[in-house]
Amino acid sequence: MSNFEEKKPHAVLTPFPVQGHINALLKIAKLLHLRGFHITFVNTEYNHKRLLKSRGENAFDGFTDFNFETIPDGLTPKDGNGDVSQDLHSLGESIITNFRHFFDELLAKLQDSATAGLIPPVTCLVSDCYMPFTVDAAEEHALPIVLFSPCSACYFLSCLLSPKMYLNSQVPFKDESDLTNEYLDTKIDWIPGLKNFRLKDLPRLIKTKNPNDLTIRFNTEVADKCHRASGMVFNTSNELESDVMNAFYSMFPSLYTIGPLASFVNQSPQNDLTSLDSNLWKEDTKCLEWIESKEPRSVVYVNFGSITVMSREKLVEFAWGLANSKKPFLWIIRPDLVIGGSVVFSSDFLKEISDRGLIASWCPQEKVLNHLSVGGFLTHCGWNSTTESICAGVPMLCWPFFSDQPANCRYICNEWEIGKEIDTNVKREEVEKLVNELMSGDKGKKMRQKAIELKKKVEVDTRPGGCSYTNLEKVIKEVLLKQN
Ligand code: UDP
Repeated sequence: MSNFEEKKPHAVLTPFPVQGHINALLKIAKLLHLRGFHITFVNTEYNHKRLLKSRGENAFDGFTDFNFETIPDGLTPKDGNGDVSQDLHSLGESIITNFRHFFDELLAKLQDSATAGLIPPVTCLVSDCYMPFTVDAAEEHALPIVLFSPCSACYFLSCLLSPKMYLNSQVPFKDESDLTNEYLDTKIDWIPGLKNFRLKDLPRLIKTKNPNDLTIRFNTEVADKCHRASGMVFNTSNELESDVMNAFYSMFPSLYTIGPLASFVNQSPQNDLTSLDSNLWKEDTKCLEWIESKEPRSVVYVNFGSITVMSREKLVEFAWGLANSKKPFLWIIRPDLVIGGSVVFSSDFLKEISDRGLIASWCPQEKVLNHLSVGGFLTHCGWNSTTESICAGVPMLCWPFFSDQPANCRYICNEWEIGKEIDTNVKREEVEKLVNELMSGDKGKKMRQKAIELKKKVEVDTRPGGCSYTNLEKVIKEVLLKQN
């Protein structure tokens, strides 16, 4: 190995092992690779097996200066087929209890490879903030570490403050009867930077009554580690979440907005890594041909992400709402979307939609959203889906499920005015009405205009000279390369 190569900075990236987090951190890995880093990307063994199955056995080999490594997840498959990675509770417990040991073993292995001259020595860590053990490892090995928040800043702020609020008895609510719709609609004013938020927009942990709840313990751990990290990066821009970011900047000196990553990557030059993706489910590519045949801005794209589940009754309401709207739609239904069973539609429904609906199991979402035929996105409001939709200039219908999704929905509908919310207790009439409004009504037109304006703004942010672009250069120089 030449001296130059030995001097190459080497970043180890560790995503929280679920789809949305892996996708976002992979984007950061590609951006660092473009800027001259050697990359080690760490998946759990379980997820890596799934990736090999969905992308092909050799899909992750042979890249220059970009390697994949695995660590166990400390979980046992439930029944040999069970998708343990979807069991977030067990995963959270295992991350707190087991992962540090597995990660240390990996760092030792990388050290051996570096000593043998096979790879450059590890110089920094870039980790999902929900992998808090990596901060302990960074301190022990005297490596700079940047923690990445893959969620919206508005949600992350309420998570970080929640253990403190819990201790101050500001939360949880006094008793179960507080959890009425009326009560949950109460406006809150005790989280700096969150304007026009209601109790129901806050994370679930604020509603829990058990101080030993894993989420409280996990968030206490995450909050502590964020304060100890060398720096933090967010998949957002100052433009998107300005009030919240101002609150954050007063709490963390080394904080950088480097998003939205989807826009960054859209504008990066093509290279060998461009086609590298991290889909845990196999893509059903026929949907791209299908949308190709549709009129511009005519298709409603429906996708509830990788974790959301729903009852069969709710699925049927969505189905008939979409069918009755008479608009063409592409609906991605994961095999595990419906609680307690697979999806079987009635022959009436299938006959009704045969000339205008396509149902598929997984798709290349960013390609779909950026396709000219797509005019609206019915989404669960995961932060990746939200930002990917903004980066494509596509307005949304929102059916938030959990985690940061209610907070993201609030931003989509109230702050940016590029979407409308569907009631949790979804009914077909409401879906039909909102789909029609989005796709052919005046309100939909306005939302589309605003979505396109927002897309243009974030493009400026992520271009050379833009705030997020400059922040990426800064975090590399000021934190990741500091000891080189
Ligand atoms: N995704 C995809 N194809 C699908 C469904 C999802 O590529 O059919 C990707 C999507 O582009 C996003 C991620 O999976 O990057 C989902 O992350 P998000 O934060 O939106 O939601 P989550 O799955 O974490 O609830």
